[in-house]
Amino acid sequence: MSATLIDGKHQAQLLNQATREGVLKLSETAGFVPTLAVILVGEDPASQVYVRNKVRTAGEIGIKSLEFVLPADATQETLEAKIKELSDDEGVDGILVQLPLPKHLNEDAAIELIAPLKDVDGLTEKSAGRLSLGKVGLRPCTPKGSVILAKSALGDDLSGKNVVVIGRSILVGKPAAFLFLEENCTVTIAHSRTKNLPEICKNADILVAAVGRPLMVKADWVKEGACVIDVGINRVPNDNPNSEKKTKLVGDVDFDGAKTVAGQITPVPGGVGPMTIACLMQNTLEASKLRRGLV
Ligand code: NDP
Repeated sequence: MSATLIDGKHQAQLLNQATREGVLKLSETAGFVPTLAVILVGEDPASQVYVRNKVRTAGEIGIKSLEFVLPADATQETLEAKIKELSDDEGVDGILVQLPLPKHLNEDAAIELIAPLKDVDGLTEKSAGRLSLGKVGLRPCTPKGSVILAKSALGDDLSGKNVVVIGRSILVGKPAAFLFLEENCTVTIAHSRTKNLPEICKNADILVAAVGRPLMVKADWVKEGACVIDVGINRVPNDNPNSEKKTKLVGDVDFDGAKTVAGQITPVPGGVGPMTIACLMQNTLEASKLRRGLV
């Protein structure tokens, strides 16, 4: 048996199209264009690529973006002053601080200064609290994208499904668990101290891997017919002698093995990754409406 591929690029296009329509409708009926402010500190090449992709996608969707680049040696005070300024700016709907920040900066303190209604990454304590309480709010983008992909494979009603999330980070694992709980799933969170991980995973109707360990999840961890959502992005040496590229991206799941057992599976790249930016765009639209009481 070979699993059906969950096409993250296609799902991201569908979501972006819906967001584009929402943005157009807002500009016609309410007379404003949602605005996303992105702050990048330093010159980390990967972060520069991420920011460029976010700004480009915003432009394609009709969301206005403002880009602020601070030098790598920017002080905490400078960063916090910029976040406060944008939080107070009536013309800004969403604020994104590109992570990771340079080591000398305090990430938590900076994130906490984002006005909760503009927290399009869903990372402030207020956003995390609202998620855990099941209240309306802005949800973290990667976990939100993971749920959308699971629904694209299994249908909108996920209630009663056994979900195992491997990973308990603030960015991915924990919010993913809460989001699947919101969908009435029965959720298990596994982590580095979990015992009998393969057996626990084997119970999952939906297996979410957010670990950061290349190809860790093997075929015999996967239940026959399960839906596998691979969040991991790991750069490893390229063993393909016909390729000029020295490295390649792989997920946390041994894709070639798992696809022989799973019912549906996300590829890496082209699975969860594209959904992250699409959900950021959707969150910016949502934030612009939430702040104005339009939802
Ligand atoms: P973190 O390093 O913050 O968290 C990793 C989690 O995995 C921790 O909870 C850790 O457990 C758990 N873990 C580590 N080793 C094991 C193990 N051997 N068995 C079971 N659990 C283990 O990573 P992130 O959550 O930030 O990211 C996870 C992956 O997702 C990475 O590959 C990252 O690149 C990718 N990612 C992808 C995104 C996308 O857009 N597709 C966006 C964000 C991240 P413990 O808490 O006990 O240490």
